[in-house]
Amino acid sequence: MTGPAEDADLLDRARALDEADELAGFVDRFEPAAGVAAYLDGNSLGRPLRDTAERLREFVAGDWGSRLIRSWDEQWMELPFELGDRIGRVAIGAAPGQTVVADSTTVMLYKLMSAAVAARPGRDEIVIEGGNFPTDRFVAEGVAAAHGLTLKRIEPDPAGADSAALSAALSGGVTVADVAAAVSERTALLVLSHVDYRSGAIADMRAITAEAHRHGALVLWDLCHSVGLLPVELDACGADLAVGCTYKYLNGGPGAPAFAYVRADLQGGLAQPIWGWMGAADVFGMRERYEPAAGMRAFVSGTPPVLGMLPMQGMLDLIEEAGIERVRAKAASLTGLAVEAYDALLAPLGVRLLTPRDPERRGGHVTFGHEGFETVVKRLWAEDVIPDFRRPDGIRVGLSPLSTSHAGALRGVLAIRSAIG
Ligand SMILES: *Cc1c(COP(=O)(O)O)cnc(C)c1O
Repeated sequence: MTGPAEDADLLDRARALDEADELAGFVDRFEPAAGVAAYLDGNSLGRPLRDTAERLREFVAGDWGSRLIRSWDEQWMELPFELGDRIGRVAIGAAPGQTVVADSTTVMLYKLMSAAVAARPGRDEIVIEGGNFPTDRFVAEGVAAAHGLTLKRIEPDPAGADSAALSAALSGGVTVADVAAAVSERTALLVLSHVDYRSGAIADMRAITAEAHRHGALVLWDLCHSVGLLPVELDACGADLAVGCTYKYLNGGPGAPAFAYVRADLQGGLAQPIWGWMGAADVFGMRERYEPAAGMRAFVSGTPPVLGMLPMQGMLDLIEEAGIERVRAKAASLTGLAVEAYDALLAPLGVRLLTPRDPERRGGHVTFGHEGFETVVKRLWAEDVIPDFRRPDGIRVGLSPLSTSHAGALRGVLAIRSAIG
């Protein structure tokens, strides 16, 4: 059984890891979270940077308050594309001219999925992972219904195995073999998450994209749980389409707009369904009919949410300063410590690990499973330890690398152990 000796060993280990951590100092660049003992949900809502308040204040006084409407011409009209290119360069391996910031992830999923299926006439299905995030599945369901297509689900556990086998299947994520079995000449579009929102498993973007392309299908990657956490190589993987959140690991704040990527050679052949003036070829021409702009502007619909684009700029600075490779290495170190602590403290209590053990195959959060976790999470929140609960029985411990210390990660696992007991 576990006891004070295991706890002391783990505390020493966390301290040593923090001392050796080249990125440890970045934790102080974030707004101190008053009263919070451990914030373990940066993968759902990233913390604000200390300089976010000043950035917003300057904006109110300057670009908005003084430059007023002139700021549209001076900078705001191009901001969605400039910021998109920056995300492309710093975080997702996309050359300029392929990424735009606009709308929400949900709306962007709808626009890109609709455009993709319309570009593959004669194909009658969309393939999605059955356990993908609800909004991804719901939008796919709606687009399939609107276009008269079938929605086919890749189920991680088609055999309906027992719960241990199901956990293993879930934690492994979608494989190339799963995709090879599901995608065919009937498939217009495959929709997958790069990092699974439940297990944190990383899908093999390069191999899966190649497999889908072998059958002539397009692939839409959801990067919500990978952007800002690990190097994504959209161009190098030959990806077609991608969307992602900016309020998770890009710390853009609640409701910050999403980004979308459309590979350069596909842009002219894709027509998104929300035709608005900001996506028109001649934005201020006040034309009689819609004619889409060239390039990524065609994927914009209405006025860009400029305010929501400010905080993420500070986080992109930080990621650039730290280097995305080092951010990823720290994620592996933090999740590695959480797995070690799980082995010592939680496994003996019958808690299951729902995340891959191989650091190469997991993202920035670790998920544990136990029947009692819904109650446990309520108890933890009452103690200002903040992970989140995901049905049916998972606690996600999110370890956003630049804002989390090893000591903080360990505090989370220790608190879960106590809350079960
Ligand atoms: C967080 C998340 C979303 C959120 O979509 P919104 O439109 O911002 O609400 C979508 N998909 C995945 C996989 C996510 O993790």
